Amino acid sequence: VLCLEGLKKSFGDLLVLDNIDLRVTKGETIVILGASGSGKSTMLRCVNFMEVPSGGRIILHGEQVGKENQNGSRTYDEKSLSDLRSRVGMVFQHFNLFPHMTVKQNVMEGPRTVLKCDQAECERRAKLYLDKVGLGWKADAWPSELSGGQQQRVAIARALAMEPDIMLFDEATSALDPELVGEVLETMKQLAEEGMTMLIVTHELGFAYTVADRVLFLSKGKILEQGAPEAVLINPKEEATKNFLRGHG
Ligand code: ATP
Ligand code: MG
Repeated sequence: VLCLEGLKKSFGDLLVLDNIDLRVTKGETIVILGASGSGKSTMLRCVNFMEVPSGGRIILHGEQVGKENQNGSRTYDEKSLSDLRSRVGMVFQHFNLFPHMTVKQNVMEGPRTVLKCDQAECERRAKLYLDKVGLGWKADAWPSELSGGQQQRVAIARALAMEPDIMLFDEATSALDPELVGEVLETMKQLAEEGMTMLIVTHELGFAYTVADRVLFLSKGKILEQGAPEAVLINPKEEATKNFLRGHG
């Protein structure tokens, strides 16, 4: 579904992603771990071009993002980026639902404005994806009337309503009160079981162990170690991975 080839990103002199190669197959759930500052968020943000990579290639369904120029460089025009973003769903730590829209309107907004779906299709998607996250009964509520966990599940439904090829989660539960974390992880787990392709940044190691098909450990902008959850989480090879796991045990 998604290929990163030699992905690089610098901010000024600071090299944050250093030659990331990753091939994500359909239905795969990949959990990305790493210390603060190792480049996890930047990696996800590059995938949907919230950050423009400094080098390398991002290939979604066999097509490289952007338009190739005659000299081989690439331009990232609005149309390619909006196509890309409609196929890559993203859920952040802070759910930022639109406060002046009901739950249902929040979920319908992307299909309506970006995909130009008609009213019936927008309604169908809102119902389907709100039901999927267990919040069909809150369709007419305002975001402010929901708990943090419910708001985050609406944010997931909103991303799903675009029917993306891949979903990215960046510490989707880090801002939640501890008692609300479980319901959001449960929703993510259910998506993984249904075969959604997902890249998940999280510090929830138990969750990582159960849902991941593969775990990546990022260190200083490189994939230091990767493999099955048992390999990386239970028998890590690298000292840095061991240290990280000790700190999050
Ligand atoms: P955390 O676990 O704290 O979220 P992270 O692994 O997600 O960390 P990133 O947010 O990807 O780390 O940041 C990696 C490095 O890039 C850090 O050193 C950060 O300061 C730097 N960085 C990120 N965004 C920018 C930016 N817009 N401008 C300059 N430096 C940035
Ligand atoms: Mg981050």
